[in-house]
Amino acid sequence: MTGSFLDTTVVVHIAERIKPGGTKGEAYIRTNQPAETPYYALRELLDGRVRIFCNVHNALYTAENPGEAMLALQRISPAEGRKRQSKLEVFATSMNAAFAAPGDRNDVKREMLQDLALRANNLWRKAHKLKSVTIVQALGCFNDGKVTYDPDGALRGPRNSFTCIKSERCSAAAYIYDDKSNLTKMISALHPSSLDPKIANKNETQKRRKALKELQANGPANFDKGRCRALGDAYFAAMCPAGSVVLTSNLEDHVPLCLALGKKANEP
Ligand SMILES: [Zn+2]
Repeated sequence: MTGSFLDTTVVVHIAERIKPGGTKGEAYIRTNQPAETPYYALRELLDGRVRIFCNVHNALYTAENPGEAMLALQRISPAEGRKRQSKLEVFATSMNAAFAAPGDRNDVKREMLQDLALRANNLWRKAHKLKSVTIVQALGCFNDGKVTYDPDGALRGPRNSFTCIKSERCSAAAYIYDDKSNLTKMISALHPSSLDPKIANKNETQKRRKALKELQANGPANFDKGRCRALGDAYFAAMCPAGSVVLTSNLEDHVPLCLALGKKANEP
């Protein structure tokens, strides 16, 4: 049997019970054990999807009413691209739920705030205890803890942060640096000449290659921790254990990296 190494997209799909991704992910895991996911996936989740729920909650919290909050979200720079899109989708889903519920229309804002806080907390909690999935590869820099309200009523990550613990070295970079031959292979695999132009031109691809090159040149002790998240998919390719495949809903980004290391990526 081949094991599964879940990336962040699959963790989100299962934890949020998104269909069909979540159901397929669960089915895949049942027949492809052991199933593991690294703390790095939770780290990405906190700075990604969980942060989006919190940001939308906080935009609504400081707005006079849902209409004003929606306008504020629409004003986010289009350069934020997918993140902006996700925030608008999260807002719309929450608003639909509030209007579908029986009750006073004046309570829509309050209901939406509760819904958003609940979704952020459920996602964060469920991602920590996915059925039949072990969380592996501890990170000293991982900012674990609860998603809570600050004294002003805004929703915040643990220690008022969505990113790594600042005083710690980036453990993700250290793991990757342990195998310098693989590090070199991934840098080559991300060279624009090795990639489909569609992937090569992506902002994330370019940032990823830059982060890996910086790690190669400076080593993990001097690695700029602000780039921890840019390692992204490279972390999963490098750290997928022998006998497992990277399980992802984003094959196009994972395949070139996995291929370069003689590993495999599968979609559930
Ligand atoms: Zn880090």
